[in-house]
Amino acid sequence: MPELENCKGCGKLFVRVSSPYCRDCLNEQEKQFDTVYSYIRKQENRMSTVTQVHEATDVDLDWIYQWIREGRLKTAVFPNLGYPCRSCGRTIQNGTLCEHCRKKLERDMQQEHIDDSQTNFKGKTYHT
Ligand SMILES: [Zn+2]
Ligand SMILES: [Zn+2]
Repeated sequence: MPELENCKGCGKLFVRVSSPYCRDCLNEQEKQFDTVYSYIRKQENRMSTVTQVHEATDVDLDWIYQWIREGRLKTAVFPNLGYPCRSCGRTIQNGTLCEHCRKKLERDMQQEHIDDSQTNFKGKTYHT
Protein backbone atom coordinates (compact mmCIF):
# COMPACT_ATOMS: atom_id res chain seq x y z
CA MET A 1 0.00 0.00 0.00
CA PRO A 2 1.49 3.37 -0.97
CA GLU A 3 1.51 5.81 1.86
CA LEU A 4 -0.82 8.77 1.47
CA GLU A 5 0.09 12.01 3.08
CA ASN A 6 -1.05 15.62 3.10
CA CYS A 7 1.21 17.83 1.03
CA LYS A 8 3.09 20.30 3.19
CA GLY A 9 2.48 22.99 0.60
CA CYS A 10 -1.14 22.73 -0.56
CA GLY A 11 -2.56 20.17 1.86
CA LYS A 12 -3.66 17.83 -0.94
CA LEU A 13 -3.42 14.07 -0.32
CA PHE A 14 -0.63 12.52 -2.36
CA VAL A 15 1.63 9.49 -2.43
CA ARG A 16 4.73 10.43 -0.56
CA VAL A 17 8.00 9.47 -2.21
CA SER A 18 10.80 11.44 -0.63
CA SER A 19 9.65 15.01 -0.39
CA PRO A 20 6.87 16.26 1.90
CA TYR A 21 5.49 18.18 -1.11
CA CYS A 22 3.31 16.86 -3.93
CA ARG A 23 4.53 16.96 -7.53
CA ASP A 24 2.53 20.10 -8.35
CA CYS A 25 4.05 21.95 -5.44
CA LEU A 26 7.53 20.73 -6.30
CA ASN A 27 7.17 21.94 -9.88
CA GLU A 28 5.85 25.23 -8.61
CA GLN A 29 8.71 25.43 -6.14
CA GLU A 30 11.27 24.87 -8.90
CA LYS A 31 9.72 27.68 -10.90
CA GLN A 32 9.84 29.97 -7.88
CA PHE A 33 13.43 28.96 -7.19
CA ASP A 34 14.35 30.02 -10.72
CA THR A 35 12.62 33.35 -10.14
CA VAL A 36 14.53 33.90 -6.91
CA TYR A 37 17.79 32.70 -8.36
CA SER A 38 17.66 34.81 -11.49
CA TYR A 39 16.86 37.79 -9.30
CA ILE A 40 19.60 37.36 -6.74
CA ARG A 41 22.39 36.28 -9.02
CA LYS A 42 22.35 39.72 -10.64
CA GLN A 43 25.33 41.72 -9.48
CA GLU A 44 23.23 44.54 -8.04
CA ASN A 45 21.01 42.16 -6.04
CA ARG A 46 23.66 39.96 -4.44
CA MET A 47 23.53 41.90 -1.19
CA SER A 48 19.76 41.48 -0.81
CA THR A 49 18.26 40.22 2.43
CA VAL A 50 15.58 37.52 2.43
CA THR A 51 12.90 40.16 2.98
CA GLN A 52 14.09 42.14 -0.03
CA VAL A 53 14.16 39.01 -2.18
CA HIS A 54 10.69 38.10 -0.96
CA GLU A 55 9.35 41.57 -1.78
CA ALA A 56 10.98 41.64 -5.20
CA THR A 57 9.98 38.13 -6.29
CA ASP A 58 6.82 37.50 -4.24
CA VAL A 59 8.10 34.04 -3.34
CA ASP A 60 7.10 32.57 0.02
CA LEU A 61 9.58 33.42 2.80
CA ASP A 62 9.53 29.84 4.12
CA TRP A 63 10.68 28.52 0.77
CA ILE A 64 13.53 30.99 0.54
CA TYR A 65 14.57 29.99 4.07
CA GLN A 66 14.42 26.35 3.07
CA TRP A 67 16.70 26.88 0.08
CA ILE A 68 19.22 28.67 2.26
CA ARG A 69 19.10 25.84 4.82
CA GLU A 70 19.58 23.30 2.03
CA GLY A 71 22.51 25.30 0.67
CA ARG A 72 20.87 25.92 -2.69
CA LEU A 73 21.22 29.62 -2.02
CA LYS A 74 24.74 29.95 -0.71
CA THR A 75 25.44 32.50 1.98
CA ALA A 76 29.06 32.60 0.82
CA VAL A 77 27.81 34.11 -2.44
CA PHE A 78 24.85 36.04 -1.02
CA PRO A 79 26.14 37.24 2.34
CA ASN A 80 22.96 38.91 3.55
CA LEU A 81 20.76 35.88 3.21
CA GLY A 82 19.89 33.90 6.31
CA TYR A 83 17.02 32.17 8.10
CA PRO A 84 15.55 32.53 11.57
CA CYS A 85 17.05 30.83 14.61
CA ARG A 86 14.66 28.12 15.69
CA SER A 87 14.55 29.47 19.20
CA CYS A 88 14.61 33.28 19.04
CA GLY A 89 14.12 34.16 15.36
CA ARG A 90 17.41 36.02 14.95
CA THR A 91 18.90 35.68 11.45
CA ILE A 92 21.47 32.89 11.17
CA GLN A 93 23.36 31.26 8.30
CA ASN A 94 24.08 27.75 9.52
CA GLY A 95 22.82 25.18 12.00
CA THR A 96 19.41 25.61 13.59
CA LEU A 97 20.23 27.96 16.46
CA CYS A 98 22.01 31.31 16.71
CA GLU A 99 25.25 31.72 18.63
CA HIS A 100 23.38 33.10 21.63
CA CYS A 101 20.84 30.25 21.87
CA ARG A 102 23.52 27.63 21.21
CA LYS A 103 25.58 28.91 24.15
CA LYS A 104 22.49 29.01 26.33
CA LEU A 105 21.66 25.43 25.36
CA GLU A 106 25.21 24.32 26.18
CA ARG A 107 24.95 26.00 29.58
CA ASP A 108 21.60 24.32 30.22
CA MET A 109 23.06 20.95 29.29
CA GLN A 110 26.04 21.45 31.58
CA GLN A 111 23.64 22.47 34.32
CA GLU A 112 21.77 19.20 33.82
CA HIS A 113 25.02 17.25 34.11
CA ILE A 114 25.75 18.96 37.39
CA ASP A 115 22.26 18.15 38.65
CA ASP A 116 22.74 14.53 37.58
CA SER A 117 26.03 14.12 39.40
CA GLN A 118 24.55 15.70 42.49
CA THR A 119 21.69 13.24 42.43
CA ASN A 120 24.12 10.38 42.00
CA PHE A 121 26.21 11.68 44.80
CA LYS A 122 23.22 11.95 47.11
CA GLY A 123 22.17 8.46 46.06
CA LYS A 124 25.57 7.16 47.07
CA THR A 125 25.58 8.94 50.39
CA TYR A 126 22.18 7.52 51.07
CA HIS A 127 23.35 3.96 50.44
CA THR A 128 26.59 4.15 52.45
ZN1 LIG B 1 1.02 20.25 -2.93
ZN1 LIG C 1 18.55 32.30 18.86
